[in-house]
Amino acid sequence: MSRLVSRRKKKKKKNNRRIIAVIAVIVLIIIVALVVHGCQEKKAQEAAAKAAEEQYDSADASDSIDVELLTPNKYSRPEIKLEKVKGIVVHYTANPGSTAMENRNYFEGLKDSHKTFASSHFVVGLDGEIIQCIPTKEVAYASNDRNSDTLSIECCHYAENGKFTEKTYSSLVKLCAYLCHRFGLTQDDIIRHYDVTGKNCPKYFVEHPKVWKRFRADVKTALDNKDWNLDIIS
Ligand SMILES: [Zn+2]
Repeated sequence: MSRLVSRRKKKKKKNNRRIIAVIAVIVLIIIVALVVHGCQEKKAQEAAAKAAEEQYDSADASDSIDVELLTPNKYSRPEIKLEKVKGIVVHYTANPGSTAMENRNYFEGLKDSHKTFASSHFVVGLDGEIIQCIPTKEVAYASNDRNSDTLSIECCHYAENGKFTEKTYSSLVKLCAYLCHRFGLTQDDIIRHYDVTGKNCPKYFVEHPKVWKRFRADVKTALDNKDWNLDIIS
């Protein structure tokens, strides 16, 4: 009798062990499955993020110039011939958060408002987009005494200190490199509005001479590497 009980106990113990083993195997399989699934999900997320980034890159507005020429009028597009381009003048809008199109439309609106005489050949936006307002063969009203022999570029900014976003900076470098190439200029022919009149414009480049120096060096690098992928038709 006691031997029978002992055998039954042993059998029960054995069965328990089997059940535990089976449960352990199931748990292990579940863990492995979860880990594999997690990895796959992470990979899928990474792939999706990469695809989105690539899509963003290919849609980079800095790769093309949006030509939105102003209506000829004496306040912002006087149609005065620009005989020879001898330099490029960089400006900042001094209007934090305003977009390239808003600045372009402000120039356009001067034909009706008659508030002042102002314009710029190009406006570089907060996302690096480039809008052309005046053909390169015409004078813009941006750089005082140098209107007659320079192209002008207005740059948008969020910061009160006038610092440009990376996208704005990058597009500005490319645009300047392209214009240097197109009109036979070098990085030394790029100047600040400050260099013409002493005005604190573009503020960040005036207050940080080292950053201005590095900007010109970046233009030289872009010029050497033909890194622009831009074209101007007017
Ligand atoms: Zn200026």
